[in-house]
This record gives sequence, C-alpha cells and structure tokens, in this order.
Amino acid sequence: MAPTFAQLTTMHVGGPTGEFAVAESTEQLLDLLRTAEDRSLPILVIAGGSNLVVGDCGWDGLTLKVASRGIEISGTTVRADAGVDWDQLVRLTLEQGLGGFEQLSGIPGSVGGTPIQNVGAFGALTSDVLQSVTVYNRDSRLVEEWPVSRCGFGSHRQSVFKHSRRYVVLSVTYALRETTQSNPLAFESLCGRLGIEPRQTAPTADVRQAVLELRRSKGSIYDEDDHDTWGTGSFFINPVVRQVPAAAAQAPSYPDSLGIKLPAGWLIHQAGFPPGYGADFGRGSVRLSSKHALAVSNRGDATTAEVMAFARHIRDGVEEVFGIRLGPECDMINCSFDDPQQPSPQQPDPQPRSRTTV
Ligand SMILES: Cc1cc2nc3c(=O)[nH]c(=O)nc-3n(C[C@H](O)[C@H](O)[C@H](O)COP(=O)(O)OP(=O)(O)OC[C@H]3O[C@@H](n4cnc5c(N)ncnc54)[C@H](O)[C@@H]3O)c2cc1C
Repeated sequence: MAPTFAQLTTMHVGGPTGEFAVAESTEQLLDLLRTAEDRSLPILVIAGGSNLVVGDCGWDGLTLKVASRGIEISGTTVRADAGVDWDQLVRLTLEQGLGGFEQLSGIPGSVGGTPIQNVGAFGALTSDVLQSVTVYNRDSRLVEEWPVSRCGFGSHRQSVFKHSRRYVVLSVTYALRETTQSNPLAFESLCGRLGIEPRQTAPTADVRQAVLELRRSKGSIYDEDDHDTWGTGSFFINPVVRQVPAAAAQAPSYPDSLGIKLPAGWLIHQAGFPPGYGADFGRGSVRLSSKHALAVSNRGDATTAEVMAFARHIRDGVEEVFGIRLGPECDMINCSFDDPQQPSPQQPDPQPRSRTTV
C-alpha cells in the first residue's frame, strides 16, 4: 500500500500520495519522470521529506521518491546522486580528508534537496562549495548541467529551483578542499563551543562534533523520538525588508541582496510566542518547539489543517506587533496558511516563481 505524506515527511502530516514510486537510480528516475509526463500525470518529487508539508487531501498524481545513491569522489571533486542522504555525504567527505561541509553537518534530507533552498547553517551555505547541478528540465525533457552561477542563489534560501516543478535535480557536484582544518569561522555560538575566537580555524572533525552538539541542543537534528524535531526545521523564512520597522528596531539584522534580513525566530519570540508555545491553542497538537521559537512542531497526531491554523496564528501575531508578514520556508503543497480547510488547487507544472518578501 502506498505510504501517506504523514509517513514520508518529518512534519508527519499529510494525506495519501496517489501513485507512488521510488527511483533507486538516476536512470530509473528519468524513466519514471518521462513515463508520468507521457501520461500527463502531475508529479511531486520528494526525498527526505524534511522541508515539505502536504495537505490532508494529499497529492492526486505521482509522488516520486528520489533514492538514487551514487557517490563519486575524484580528488577534491565530489559528485553525489540526488537521493544520497546529506549527512552521510558530509561524514564520508570529512573522513576522507575533504573539508568544506563541516558546518553543514546534521542537516536532515537529501543531496538533491540542498540546492532547492541553498541549504545553510552556522554561516555556511551549500553554494559556497557547489560547482554544478545536473537537472532534468521538464520543459525540454533534457538533462542539463548547470554551473552554480545559473542557480539563482541570491537572497536568503532562494534559488531558481524553489517552488518550481520544472527542474528535477539528478545529482550535485561540489568542489571541496583537501584539508582537515576548517575555513575561518565566524558564527559566535560555534566559536564559543570550540573555544576559539571569531576568524580562527579548527579541525574539521571538531567543527562537525560541535555543530552536531549545538544542533541537538536546539532540536535541529531530526529524531523520531523527539517531537520538537517533528517539523521542517525553520518553519518561517527570515523576512527581508527594505526598512526595519520602528517596532523591530532592537532586532538583530543582517545584510541581504534584497534588503535587510531579520531573524524570524526573534520576531516570533518577541511577539509573545516563546519556545513551547501552543499548549492552549486548539488541541495543543501543534506547538513551537520547546527548544527554539522558529520550529513549528507536531506533537504526535496533528493534521495539516491544524499546522496551518497554528502557523496563521503565529504569522498574524507577528504582523500585529511588527507589521511584518512571515511566509513559510518549507514547500507547502495543497495547503495554505489562509484557508486550512480549502487547499489551493493543485498546480501540476507551475512556472518558477520567487518568494514574496516584504
Ligand atoms: C530538524 C530539521 C532541521 C533542519 N535544519 C536546516 C538547516 O539548518 N538549514 C537548512 O537550510 N534547512 C534545514 N532544514 C530543512 C531541510 O532539512 C532542508 O531543506 C533539506 O535540504 C530538504 O531536503 P529533503 O530531501 O528532505 O527535501 P524534501 O523535503 O523531500 O523536499 C523539499 C522540496 O524540495 C523538492 N525536492 C526534493 N528533492 C528534489 C530533487 N531531487 N529535485 C527537485 N526538487 C526536489 C521537493 O519537491 C520539495 O519541494 C531542517 C529540517 C528539519 C526537519
């Protein structure tokens, strides 16, 4: 029997997957894609399910799980299939004396998921070490090799792939460094954990260990036994504003290619929603993680409608205080903040669109 999205995603909500297939290799992935296209079936690609929330109605088409597992290492060049577990690749490359991924340790999901939102943590982005992405272009039905400059990594967590069903990532090639010493580190909590000053370096193995410890303490490593991690990591995207509103003058702020980036977690907490908030909201089945305010978590038996209602409540509370409207960082399919009971119509092949920021 086909799994449900509640089984396939780390938020553990969502209805039936419709037709379901697993692609164990790139060739099989291409075959399945082309066959579904010939049948005009809407296709939803999924891998780790760690950045995806699907409506209770599920997906009426083909759900295609990417599970291709090839890894090739040639000198400092690493090519991995889209279905490879991201943290497995990080561990493997570090063990082989290749530096570059250490700050990105412990992020759930697949290699193919990393270019979708230019995954990042502790001051590092996958685009820092990404050389090219091999994609299947569903318009031309051809396989194309894209250099990093074509991927549209600019503003926070954006790329040409995000919210587009036109491109399917087949594999990613990275240019790492032959070293067991990290680049200079800047992230305060990471430097503190390592006992070094900002701009100093550390052994990559120590950096990985420190990152894993810090992530675990924040519930940022998916753990089936810890409901704080039943979510999508950061649920809301850090908003980018042209001007910081007076009410948010105290917020930490960071330059972004589109303006000024503000931490959504800070805004949420300051708007009156501390970590753990939500016990009295509805059934209490959806709450902010008890470890940090930016993660919306399913406490065990939540529905997508409940996640959406909770997210709307937080979004509206933040907007009331700061005049800033938060949007989701994760991909939402057949569900929306605004009408949890009435999913937006399924779009089989929407054109790429960019996230609206205030
Ligand atoms: C506890 C936790 C902590 C997290 N921490 C971080 C963090 O520190 N930094 C960060 O950036 N993210 C973080 N995330 C989010 C998530 O881990 C990443 O976005 C990850 O890269 C998603 O990969 P995935 O394989 O799970 O993608 P999925 O959830 O399966 O898919 C996400 C989106 O990508 C699309 N997609 C997936 N694979 C492909 C492909 N091969 N081709 C085309 N489209 C594809 C899907 O259609 C969907 O739109 C966290 C999530 C959790 C649950």
